[in-house]
Amino acid sequence: MKNLWKDTDAEALVAAYGQKGVERDLALRVYTTRLLGGEPRLVLHGGGNTSVKLEATDLVGDHWPVLCVKGSGWDMGVIEPQGLPAVKLAPLLKARALESLSDEDMVSLQRANLIDPGSPNPSVETLLHAFLPQKFVDHTHSTAVLAIVDQGDDSEALIRKVFGPKMGYVPYIKPGFDLAKAAAEIYDQDPSVEGLILDKHGIFTFAETAKDAYDLMIRYVTVAEDYVAQNTANPLVPVTLPKRLPDPAQIAPCCAGRSRCATAKAASTGWSATSVRRPRSWNS
Ligand SMILES: [Zn+2]
Repeated sequence: MKNLWKDTDAEALVAAYGQKGVERDLALRVYTTRLLGGEPRLVLHGGGNTSVKLEATDLVGDHWPVLCVKGSGWDMGVIEPQGLPAVKLAPLLKARALESLSDEDMVSLQRANLIDPGSPNPSVETLLHAFLPQKFVDHTHSTAVLAIVDQGDDSEALIRKVFGPKMGYVPYIKPGFDLAKAAAEIYDQDPSVEGLILDKHGIFTFAETAKDAYDLMIRYVTVAEDYVAQNTANPLVPVTLPKRLPDPAQIAPCCAGRSRCATAKAASTGWSATSVRRPRSWNS
């Protein structure tokens, strides 16, 4: 997959948003989110989401460490800064100690901690983004990655073989609190990983800069694409045709029904319609 990062484009967006008071890292988050969202092979299957960890100021002037994460209803390909609502990070991190958290309570927790209460709902994968420590987290449902992780019930061995030791393996769990917690535990077991492959789901990459997280996403999606290209079975089985094909006039009656097939019996090619094994239902 082609890496579309261009320094000039990134800096132009940083400058344009800077004039509107948008800080550099949020502008870069918008830039790479658009790069990811503009590529159908990354976002066909239910999209994906991105985040950046920043500081934000609320209405009374208090400063908070926040997670700016893609909001529901926003298209990554045309996202704006307001499509990445800021959620106070500390309460999200505190939730990791819970034994369980229903989807409804998770949404309530996320909404209750929005810096701007008018923001869209943060992504259902917000907690997973929060629990990973890196500043930039990218997540897609890449078609090539899905072609590998959707190979039957036991895809762990294949995933480890294709992506290698720098990508953590996360078994399938429905998106939500349980998946976020499991993914964070797998990350904690080996913080040297550059991303996570989620079985039957997609891929996360993360880094301290927008460019590095995006570069990793493109690199590992390319690994998946190369593997799929080299290992796709040819669905068309080659056959050898007879040297001399029968005349269309001789075989056409067979298409019209059994009784007329007999007329083709004496075909000069040596083909005999009656020598063809017929389905039992043809026998009267
Ligand atoms: Zn996802």
